[in-house]
Amino acid sequence: MSKYLTTIGLEVHAELHTNSKMWCGCKNDPRENRPNVNICEVCMAHPGTLPVANKEAIKKVITVGTAVGATIADFTEFDRKNYFYPDIPKGYQLSQYKLPIVSGGSINGVELTRIHLEEDTASSSHDNGTTLVNYNRAGVPLMELVTEPVVHSAEQAGDFARELQRILRYVGASEANMEMGQMRIEANISVSTDPNKFGTKVEVKNINSFAAVESAIKYEVERHIDLIESGGKVVQETRGWDENKQETFSQRKKENAHDYRYFPDPDLPKLYLSKLFDIESIKNSLPELPSAKKARYLSYNLKDDVVEILIDNVALARYFDNTITHFDMWDKDGLKEVSKAHVQAAANYLISDVLGLLKKENKELSESTLPAPRTFSVLINMTLDGELSSRGAKDLLPYVMNGQEIDIKKLAEEKGLIQKNDPELLKKIVAEVLAESEKQVAEYKSGKESMFMYFVGQCMKKSKGAGNPSLFQQLLKEALT
Ligand SMILES: [Zn+2]
Repeated sequence: MSKYLTTIGLEVHAELHTNSKMWCGCKNDPRENRPNVNICEVCMAHPGTLPVANKEAIKKVITVGTAVGATIADFTEFDRKNYFYPDIPKGYQLSQYKLPIVSGGSINGVELTRIHLEEDTASSSHDNGTTLVNYNRAGVPLMELVTEPVVHSAEQAGDFARELQRILRYVGASEANMEMGQMRIEANISVSTDPNKFGTKVEVKNINSFAAVESAIKYEVERHIDLIESGGKVVQETRGWDENKQETFSQRKKENAHDYRYFPDPDLPKLYLSKLFDIESIKNSLPELPSAKKARYLSYNLKDDVVEILIDNVALARYFDNTITHFDMWDKDGLKEVSKAHVQAAANYLISDVLGLLKKENKELSESTLPAPRTFSVLINMTLDGELSSRGAKDLLPYVMNGQEIDIKKLAEEKGLIQKNDPELLKKIVAEVLAESEKQVAEYKSGKESMFMYFVGQCMKKSKGAGNPSLFQQLLKEALT
């Protein structure tokens, strides 16, 4: 066991998915590429303007709080965090200091300190000595979640971040797309040789991918250990992550903590959350959360990698759940054992064939690019009942990837893809093939066993691919002995 104890606390910012910004009616549109179009007097902090809190944003933070089993405050307020920077037009950021909306809770066993609501800043870009500021993002509702310092490895931090992203997406709080900066992670890392004491804390900021979270933490822990072992000293500071060099770099030393002179914002009313919201009904209308969904999928004996793909994609999981409700297999005890085969086939088929075809055709996953769930369930039923070969099912797929309810049995008949299981018909084909292959039959009988698959192939060809290959094999064996 390592003699070093790594302790990590995480801070995650997530832009909330709302129609409008936090204090004004401007559109909250992370996909707007034109600079400074979603702005107004309020988010540009013109004198005499007043903020109005966005109720939808507050509700989303409460929803996340209930999803992680936290306590929702009865009473909350917004505070001014004072500092000057061009990306913050008011000269202060509206945030929450003493009274966050959410306290406590946990994700993956990692205890949370708090979740509060604040506003995002403008985005600035630096180019050739010129700085350009885009205020579209200024005033966008931003959730900040802080964990207790209870994470002890890079992998644990990565797993936490992935689970948080799923939760945010499942409850519709945030798209939490890390590449787009909608979810940003900071890690406070310390390494100590004394289990009763934290080491010197270093903060790594603005980490923009799960891989970077893990790499940055691993890098920093090794750097601390090297420093300690070589008799050096870890300095308390803020560091950034260089993705190209795969290393952290010093941004600013933290000799003394910044004094933001927080005080309650006098322009905004205090909020009695328990009077403004029915917390109990928010809790009761939570969707199935990722951990519960994962457990349910595993109970169908789906493979781990299949489960991961499904639970990581909200739309795909929803589609899958819609499909399996069409299998006639639910009874009072839940899923019948015998029907797990259908669920497994649907999952495998969805992930390999359906997603494969979408990718090949360069199409986005949506209701109109997938088969209607009922149609898809019939396709799976027919495959498992032996009416369709897996080849036949693949051939039908392009005709049903349009969200339309389609009579797939009729379609399969029209395309001549119904797998023939009629033994009399198949026997006739076998007899014909053997009669036409005198030479090959002689070879087979003299010991050339590889000829057998040739006969199967000829039978399939004669039946135009509609014969059941395993039945052909069985009949051929009978006829040849
Ligand atoms: Zn505005």
